[in-house]
Amino acid sequence: MLLITYGTRPEYIKVLPVIEEMKKRGMLYKTFFTGQHTDLLGLAEKPSHILSISDGPNRLDSIVQSILNKEEIFDDITNVMVQGDTSSAFATALAAFHRRIPVSHLEAGLRTYDKYSPYPEEFNRAAISALAEIHLCPTHTAAKNLKKEGRKNIFVVGNTVLDHLNDVKVSTSNKVIVTLHRREKLDQIQIWFEAVNNLAQKHKHLDFILPIHPNPEVKKHANLLPDVRVVDPMGHADFIRELASCAFIITDSGGVQEEAAFLKKPCIVCRDFTERVEGLDTFSLLCKEPRQLQGLVEHWATKVDLSDKKCPYGNGQASQYICNLINKI
Ligand code: UDP
Repeated sequence: MLLITYGTRPEYIKVLPVIEEMKKRGMLYKTFFTGQHTDLLGLAEKPSHILSISDGPNRLDSIVQSILNKEEIFDDITNVMVQGDTSSAFATALAAFHRRIPVSHLEAGLRTYDKYSPYPEEFNRAAISALAEIHLCPTHTAAKNLKKEGRKNIFVVGNTVLDHLNDVKVSTSNKVIVTLHRREKLDQIQIWFEAVNNLAQKHKHLDFILPIHPNPEVKKHANLLPDVRVVDPMGHADFIRELASCAFIITDSGGVQEEAAFLKKPCIVCRDFTERVEGLDTFSLLCKEPRQLQGLVEHWATKVDLSDKKCPYGNGQASQYICNLINKI
């Protein structure tokens, strides 16, 4: 029996198309929700196992420790699938490895080669690659990274996040969608929020919307955004509708960069590095400093036309390829 695990919103969004495709084909699986984002508890898919993460002085330690102590999830499990690069995914892969259960890694091979950016994800995904048997890569660049590291059983399948977007209608408007919350950015989040608010003040004809991340370290600075429409995190379908109808996007998220490219929306990426390098300079530009935002908006995001460009992150069929592969293997 295959165990599919997830613990955070982006992981759930990315494994869901695989779960739905497996269900359609009558394939057997169990699911394990590691509880990293507790607000996911009202999931559409009821998990076979739910973990409650113990409290401790260091949240990342607690996640890893709680998962390593959860023995019963591996009863009757012959294969494990983890997605991406969270501490939940790393800990579940490690626990499977300790039991010699083969691990398939979804969204394998992304790298920045800076272990503190994104943190702790860069370490987590490299560690998962070291123990996984099957590497399901979103792009050829990711596959090349793994080949360089000497990995075997590498398959390029595209990113499953795009499987949600096949029937989405794309239009345009004066809306600008902003998401900013990454852990390695938290000490500067105030400066980024101030820069976004300055933009909103200067460009009154644009409607800046920021679904605020539930992390209290992000939420407590919402008062720095009086000229921005700060809203609660949206359900994925609602959020995609907003992306599909916006003018452009400002984000530090990984998944949003992929979704933006599929929907052909310019994306300003507020990071020092991105592992989504394939879309750089076409679909996205890096914004390393808050003071660069203004120029990138005025000279690029409001001018560029991406309608004839091809999305480099997949074609929205990844979960079909993955299920074909699982059946074959
Ligand atoms: N997302 C969502 N609602 C929101 C904001 C984002 O459903 O209000 C989705 C978005 O479409 C993308 C994912 O959450 O698929 C991105 O999550 P996040 O930025 O937390 O993580 P990352 O992609 O960087 O791992």
